[in-house]
Amino acid sequence: MRKYFSWLTILLMSLGVLMGSASTLAVSAEAAVIEDGVYETEVEGHNGPMVIETTIEDGKLADVQVKDHSESEGISDPAIDQIPAAIVEANSINVDAVAGATVTSNAIRDAVSDAITQAGGEVSDFFQETEDSEAGETIEYSTEVVVVGSGIAGLATAIEAKDNGADVLVLEKQGLVGGSTILSGGEILAAESPIQEALGNESSWEDLANYFYEISNEVGDKEFYDYIAQNSGEGIQFLADNGVDFADDAVKLHSSHEHAWGHYPKERNGASFVNPLVESLEERGVEILMTTEAHTLIEKDGRIIGVEAIDSAGNTVVVKAEHVVLATGGYNQNEAMLKEYHPTLDVYTINGGSGNTGDGIQMAKAVGAQTLFHDAGIDLATNIPTYYGYGEEFKGLLVSEEGQRYMDESEFHFVRSSNMLDMGETITYAITTESTDLVEQSVEEGNAYKASSLEDLAQAIAENQAEGEKKFDEAAFLTTVERYNELAGKGQDDDFNKDADFLTPIEGETYYALKLTTSNSGTHGGLVVTLNGEVLDENNEAIPGLYAVGEVANGQYMIEDYPGSGTAIISFLTLARGLAQHITQ
Ligand SMILES: Cc1cc2nc3c(=O)[nH]c(=O)nc-3n(C[C@H](O)[C@H](O)[C@H](O)COP(=O)(O)OP(=O)(O)OC[C@H]3O[C@@H](n4cnc5c(N)ncnc54)[C@H](O)[C@@H]3O)c2cc1C
Repeated sequence: MRKYFSWLTILLMSLGVLMGSASTLAVSAEAAVIEDGVYETEVEGHNGPMVIETTIEDGKLADVQVKDHSESEGISDPAIDQIPAAIVEANSINVDAVAGATVTSNAIRDAVSDAITQAGGEVSDFFQETEDSEAGETIEYSTEVVVVGSGIAGLATAIEAKDNGADVLVLEKQGLVGGSTILSGGEILAAESPIQEALGNESSWEDLANYFYEISNEVGDKEFYDYIAQNSGEGIQFLADNGVDFADDAVKLHSSHEHAWGHYPKERNGASFVNPLVESLEERGVEILMTTEAHTLIEKDGRIIGVEAIDSAGNTVVVKAEHVVLATGGYNQNEAMLKEYHPTLDVYTINGGSGNTGDGIQMAKAVGAQTLFHDAGIDLATNIPTYYGYGEEFKGLLVSEEGQRYMDESEFHFVRSSNMLDMGETITYAITTESTDLVEQSVEEGNAYKASSLEDLAQAIAENQAEGEKKFDEAAFLTTVERYNELAGKGQDDDFNKDADFLTPIEGETYYALKLTTSNSGTHGGLVVTLNGEVLDENNEAIPGLYAVGEVANGQYMIEDYPGSGTAIISFLTLARGLAQHITQ
């Protein structure tokens, strides 16, 4: 069997063996002695340093505790829970890494290796095979197309490739299919779909392509927008043919949308896309290997000929394939990558598939792939539980953390998030006099403030600020409201040119400040690809055998502002189908 150990462990083992040999010559009686005690070690985890305490009693590994870490909640939890206990039980560091958390698993094993060395022991003495590890083996597959990831990009690629006659295998590292797709809101943009045609909707695909291009400030690759928009209507048909039960409706998801491009399944959620597609794959006899985490691309003579993975039982899974398709999603669950590629992001919440740790980007980079990032993603500021600030044009006033007005409040919510991040702000306050049950609930839950005067409202905001937030300037806030009311009074926004329909004065008996905090639901950027999904190297040459689609490779058409709900899924779906058609032609 094969296991994955970090270089530190291997180095410590080698040193242990070397030092052991040397000390045998000098002080042979002392060479095997290990000193009991509690040893603290700092090692590098996935997101930063981890502090691990190892207790050695009677020469055995008696206790291992993770004392401090910044690993991602949810993803690394199984490793933090299971690896220390497994090490103690086996009195060995030769325990299986937890799939999906190999870096964290390795870090814990490294720390224990280091503790053994600190205690004067030899790491090789604590490397015996465990019962479980004997079960590990190398499992080999051979197929035409291997797809890594089971979100919309992976599922659509797999179905289309299979329908075009290819043998297909899908790998999914999580115990659940669907990644971010299954968690999505189920909205999807399209033009010239059968649903729109039945409704008499006259939108043309060119309008949708132009809309995407405009949102990119005309810097995105127009070829991608044209392809996505032109094939979007067919994409809806493809989903319907594969069992997605759409509502007979198409809506404008935002007033900036020229046409009713928004489609949605009757049950408006991501599972309504993922579940039928998975069933469709099953009907076609395509296997999804669950809890199987791809980690290395197999290269031969300059061509990618397969991918190596590890499953939850610690088996090595080797898949040889003519075409390797990376559909591993984005990187928003990888803190280190977020810091590097989306540094302005400072969020309260990260939404999305917990397997989206940028693996595809890392694997492809290791074989020379080119990448492109924009310090951007699906960033949204909203209030919980009202969801104020999402979708609907906002009629009230928005003020910054410091109490200043900074934009036309009716602008698209993704533009607002982008402005906030540019200003270095994670919080914005929506000032209104309108109440609903949800607004009152938000007040009760501490996500909104309520007062009978603007002065008291300003004070409530200031008093409730958390440490690290920019200081709320109460006087500036009162001046901001005064100015806003003056503009609303004359029905003309001289400062930010907001449409008079949305210029409602802040006047009433009760005032509310709803706290909108930032969240991220996906990332922009990643691998650079051709329209057919071929992964390009630094010289803009396609790496033979390697393809990518979805959030892992969206940097050529998702630039700074996200064009709005429904964009990601239609883009990844249409490009995935095109990729599959290309490799099977
Ligand atoms: C809360 C939320 C709501 C959203 N709502 C919408 C919406 O309504 N409409 C819309 O268009 N977009 C929406 N989005 C964005 C959209 O859902 C995603 O951008 C899109 O689904 C990503 O698709 P994907 O196939 O690229 O990746 P994913 O769906 O994330 O799938 C990637 C898969 O790859 C797997 N994987 C990763 N690494 C490996 C590895 N090494 N080995 C094996 N498997 C691996 C992951 O576990 C995951 O299952 C939303 C996003 C979120 C988070």
